[in-house]
Amino acid sequence: MGNDMTVSVQQGQQTPNGSEDSSFDRITRLASTVMKTEMAMISLVQTGGTPQLTAGPGVTTLGSGSTLPFCTHTMAADGAFVVQDAQRDPRFAADPMVTDGPKLRFYLGIPLRLRDGTTLGTLCAADSTPREPSAEQIAMLEDLARMVVNEMELRQLALTDGLTGALTRRGFEQRVEAERIRCQRAGFALTLVAIDLDNFKSVNDRFGHAVGDTVLRQVVDLCRENLRHCDVIGRTGGEEFVIMLPEMPGAIAAKVAERLRQAIADLRVEASEGVAQITASLGISMLSPGTQTTQQSLLRADIALYAAKARGRNKVVLDPAML
Ligand code: GH3
Ligand code: MG
Ligand code: MG
Repeated sequence: MGNDMTVSVQQGQQTPNGSEDSSFDRITRLASTVMKTEMAMISLVQTGGTPQLTAGPGVTTLGSGSTLPFCTHTMAADGAFVVQDAQRDPRFAADPMVTDGPKLRFYLGIPLRLRDGTTLGTLCAADSTPREPSAEQIAMLEDLARMVVNEMELRQLALTDGLTGALTRRGFEQRVEAERIRCQRAGFALTLVAIDLDNFKSVNDRFGHAVGDTVLRQVVDLCRENLRHCDVIGRTGGEEFVIMLPEMPGAIAAKVAERLRQAIADLRVEASEGVAQITASLGISMLSPGTQTTQQSLLRADIALYAAKARGRNKVVLDPAML
């Protein structure tokens, strides 16, 4: 866990507000009912490379990491982490959550852990009155934590492409939308690069679908190797991708796209029928967050991409608005 940690907290016992009500809301409400506590929260910890799991209606970002010390202890625990009275516990007595604000005294947290051992955050129930939870209550909170993890895994599946690990169209559009809002505040432009592999059908026809799949995976790997950590890759169609380059001037984005074009053209995939090679056509557009929608900008990148196809493929074309 580094400085890039963000904590999203969901509080229970809130009035459900129609469409904003998510399964996370329902789980935290259930948790505080079962535990008979004033609060129940899901805290999701995100570090750099982790996919965005916190996105979705109803999840509030407090950002300050206000439950961090409790969270950190829970995340390091094998199972349930119980603090019967935080005021009497030297690890937490001076914590602002205990001295001010909710005046938290009782805390029961369960780590939210994937099967591979990755810990995503915590589900906790907390109250301003000290108490000792029963074994049955702990078991119930553990069950609810399992439901939170299942829900996150399902959301993640819907947002990540199984073959390449790129975001799905839906996942990508969500990320662009979030980034658009951030860049609008900061006054930055966003660049979108649409990529379509050239004559990809002939790779499948000649080498078979499995080799085609390997090419798709390797193209995405190549893109990752040539991009920054903050750039985002989406698979928007079978052999179509879009890349978002935040805070990048158009001239530099054009160089990045050219580097990608070259790297894809240099790719060689060994197969029993020979060596598969591929080229790609790329179209670039700039999204001015204040004046354009994500959809408009994606469309402009696509139009530039089709201009690249029309000019003979294996080319990078800029949206005329960028020139
Ligand atoms: P163009 O240069 O005009 O883009 O030609 P193209 O052959 O790339 O375009 P077309 O749209 O005719 O064909 C796309 C091909 O991509 C057809 C489809 O079988 C293949 N494809 C789509 N998804 C996958 C996939 O997941 N795996 C594999 N191996 N092939 C895929
Ligand atoms: Mg295509
Ligand atoms: Mg194609």
